[in-house]
Amino acid sequence: MILEASQPISTAPPPPPSFSLPTAARPEPREAVRAHLDSVLPRGEFARERLSRATVLVVDDEPGNVRLLTRLLERAGCEDVIGTNQAPDAVRLYTERRPDLMLLDLHMPGMDGLAVLDQVRHARDDRSRSPVLVLTGDDTSEARESALHRGANEFVSKPFNVSEVLLRIDHLLETAVLHRELADRNRVLEQAVAARTAALEQDIARRERVERELRTSEARYRHLVENASDMIVQADGKGVIRYANEAAGRLFGLEPQAMEGRSFLGLIRPDARHAAGDVFIEQVRRRQPSSYQELPAVTPDGRDVWIELDVRLTWEGDELVAAQAVGRDVTERRQLEHLKDEFISVASHELRTPLTSIRAALGLLESGLMETQPERARHLLRIATRNGERLARLLNDILDLERMSSGSVRVERRPYDVAEVMTQAAETVRSAAEAANVLIVVDAPRATVSMDADRMCQVLVNLLGNAIKFSPAGGAVWLSAAAQEDGDVLFAVRDKGRGIPADRLEAVFERFTQVDVSDAREKGGSGLGLAICRAIVDQHGGRIWAESTLGAGSTFSVRLPA
Ligand code: ADP
Repeated sequence: MILEASQPISTAPPPPPSFSLPTAARPEPREAVRAHLDSVLPRGEFARERLSRATVLVVDDEPGNVRLLTRLLERAGCEDVIGTNQAPDAVRLYTERRPDLMLLDLHMPGMDGLAVLDQVRHARDDRSRSPVLVLTGDDTSEARESALHRGANEFVSKPFNVSEVLLRIDHLLETAVLHRELADRNRVLEQAVAARTAALEQDIARRERVERELRTSEARYRHLVENASDMIVQADGKGVIRYANEAAGRLFGLEPQAMEGRSFLGLIRPDARHAAGDVFIEQVRRRQPSSYQELPAVTPDGRDVWIELDVRLTWEGDELVAAQAVGRDVTERRQLEHLKDEFISVASHELRTPLTSIRAALGLLESGLMETQPERARHLLRIATRNGERLARLLNDILDLERMSSGSVRVERRPYDVAEVMTQAAETVRSAAEAANVLIVVDAPRATVSMDADRMCQVLVNLLGNAIKFSPAGGAVWLSAAAQEDGDVLFAVRDKGRGIPADRLEAVFERFTQVDVSDAREKGGSGLGLAICRAIVDQHGGRIWAESTLGAGSTFSVRLPA
């Protein structure tokens, strides 16, 4: 419907104003247009405010139409209308000015409205997609479809109803505003999500790094604890084992896992449990951080072991939450300490005996016995001299043995003629053999073996001395050696003396051990000779042992490695 210059005033809703834009260049008098516009423009019905803030691009090949639409929009409140009748300019203006709305004519020479749509809609940054209202005289459904298909938002055919156009413009602007607000919010949200995601990623990366470091350090400590040579046991506040390492398992002859869940005190030998428990209770009562104990334990295979234990407590407030016990097997150390104590007590006893004799003899001599009873005085002097020599021998033997077992003296092995060392040993004991009326028979092979010749001579002299000592007068002692197939050399010292009981064959090699208590008195000696022999042979990596038949004689053998 074509609207005339004025609208009749009526109570009924007025018919919508319409306006005819020329579809082609059809000049119309300017005044007539303005007057017409003034009359048809419905004031205040539109969201003037929205239009007043909007930039609208008007594109029509007819400059008159551009002007007309511009005027229409300005009258409706729009303060920023850009108009062009050149399609390429339209694309440029759209891109540069980002209008809030474009009114677009479809039929234009050169580049038509559809091409303009194509270009602006395919522009890479057309994200805000300003709405496009197509105004055209081509009202065919094909034209509508292709315009809408290419991104137009509304389609109004000419001649158009002004109110409808302005309402559509308003809707488009409202939608565009909402669309932009939505887009802005989306952008803000996206940014917030991206920032949060980045923060989370950083957090995750940090946690992963910390976890990795924790795992590495946990593995390192676990490895240390599991492979420690000391036993490490952790019990809870009630003394129930919660963790035991490999060394603890080895010490108690159990699988470490099998120890978990057992009572820690249960590992201690029953007769010592009470005392061990008391120490622990006292430590808890006094809140001492650590305690030290040496405790006996029995392994499942019945072995008695001594364990040195350092127990540390962990508290959480007033609650005892864990007890860590670090310990080691000190059985050998305790045995050595025991042997040493025994050795010192026996050695001091052995030393005191000759010393007492010497002091007694000297005391008597001092009382003037030399003048009154010279014969008895000489006898006392002989006793003192003999005991002095015995004391010196004893001291030498003790020191020798001590140096040998502490490792401060090492044998120096080098290839040596076996016959030569045997002859030297035999020569050394020859006078003692003659005095005892015992014959020494030497059977030496042609062989060499790696040895410390002086020390091996000492061994053979000791064995020959014993053999002579325990042989009857008129008897004989045999010293022989033979090279073995593997290159070892086997020495043997054989006698036909009184022999050694089978259950003493091992014991005679221990310090201060003699078969008969009267041996020291009757045969001399202190029970250290064979202990020294064993120490020397051990240092050669060899073996020494005795075989004997009571009443028929003994054979002492030494096997030296090649
Ligand atoms: P010592 O001879 O100085 O007492 P040893 O250690 O050499 O010390 O010998 C320890 C003990 O072994 C001797 O006292 C003796 O009881 C016994 N014994 C050693 N050799 C023989 C032997 N050939 N025949 C019998 N008993 C022996």
